[in-house]
Amino acid sequence: MLQVNEAESIILSLVQPLDSERDIETIDLLTSSGRILANPVTSELNFPHWDNSAMDGYALKFADVKDCSPENPIPLEIVEEIPAGYKPQKQIQSGQTARIFTGACMPIGADTVVIQEVAQREGNRVLILETPEPQAFVRYCGSFYQAGTPVLNPRIYLGATEIAVLAALQCTQINVYRRAKVGILSTGNELVTPDQPLKHGQLVDSNQYALSIALEQMGVEVIKLGIVPDKREILQQTIAQAILKTDFLLSTGGVSVGDYDYVQEILTELGAEIHIHSVAVKPGKPLTVANFPNAKCLYFGLPGNPVSALVSFWRFVQPALKKLAGVNKAEWGPEFVTARLVQDLHSKDKRETYLWGQLNLGNDGYEFKLAVGSHHSGNLINLAGATGLAIVPMNETLIPAGNSVQVLKIS
Ligand code: AMP
Ligand code: MG
Repeated sequence: MLQVNEAESIILSLVQPLDSERDIETIDLLTSSGRILANPVTSELNFPHWDNSAMDGYALKFADVKDCSPENPIPLEIVEEIPAGYKPQKQIQSGQTARIFTGACMPIGADTVVIQEVAQREGNRVLILETPEPQAFVRYCGSFYQAGTPVLNPRIYLGATEIAVLAALQCTQINVYRRAKVGILSTGNELVTPDQPLKHGQLVDSNQYALSIALEQMGVEVIKLGIVPDKREILQQTIAQAILKTDFLLSTGGVSVGDYDYVQEILTELGAEIHIHSVAVKPGKPLTVANFPNAKCLYFGLPGNPVSALVSFWRFVQPALKKLAGVNKAEWGPEFVTARLVQDLHSKDKRETYLWGQLNLGNDGYEFKLAVGSHHSGNLINLAGATGLAIVPMNETLIPAGNSVQVLKIS
């Protein structure tokens, strides 16, 4: 059985990132939230675009006010008022100033702004009461960013700040990677959708909801294939068709060793190469990963138990999906932090064990509080609200409270 890090590197080696030429689409900036930038972005604009004032006050020549004080105020003639958005019409001469406001263009001839709090207005002149620093409160053209140099690198996720930068650069149409297409299907004769009445022995297909939401949150195009009964022909047909139109296909259930667990047999019949049959991890041991000779799709047969399915998704599928989607390696994750344990962690197994709970930032760094209740992989209920998975390494059975552990951040 493979260890977790072996399985992780096999999976990542099987993933080809989307192509930086063929897999690109041009979209409107306003619809780009969560998408991945495909090209580097530069601008022909300087930031700031013009020398402008950082404060409300008076624009003047520093040389005129270099020796002033409340006892020795220097009078200047106000020749113009410059609000934001207005193009100054006058050139400031020695002995002159312009009333200016935050964000307004500096007039030619002025090099410094004196804030209005240290100036006393008297009709069309002003007394300057304090000597400012030379060039005070002037935001010079190009001092934040110089035209022609790179602003944003490709392969980053676009969020509020990146989109604001692109808007400021007047990039209203941008190139992003297309969304990855991920198919999901749930196997099991016992499964029903949440709106169906439950007959004895049936179970709601919660995995379809868990995975589709987790995938949508990653900006993926989800192809929901629904519940497929444990019938070989139907399952085989569904998989054979789905691998032709998806980048990844995720199934849950049917990958264990029971009589109705058909997934691995079907994959073999479809000519797949199965790279992973199981992993020494708890929950999530029966993980199947395969690829196909005639399709680019990577297949993940996740375990059926709801917690196992999600833990496998967070630990193995999510980083692979980020690689596929085109993001930089540094962003693939998973994200681990070190946290101090509030309670003892127990594992009865030799496998690497993931226990769920809450990760909180305390005064001395992160703390991990184990979820109350059963940590059975079928118990979805107390997974709600969990923000981390604490890891008990292989062959360890107890980590006492107060010790530090690695915790995988989940959201
Ligand atoms: P299996 O791997 O198919 O034997 O499934 C393992 C356990 O997970 C069984 O108790 C199933 O009833 C349960 N299970 C399988 N698929 C789902 C699903 N889509 N949603 C919720 N539970 C499931
Ligand atoms: Mg099953």
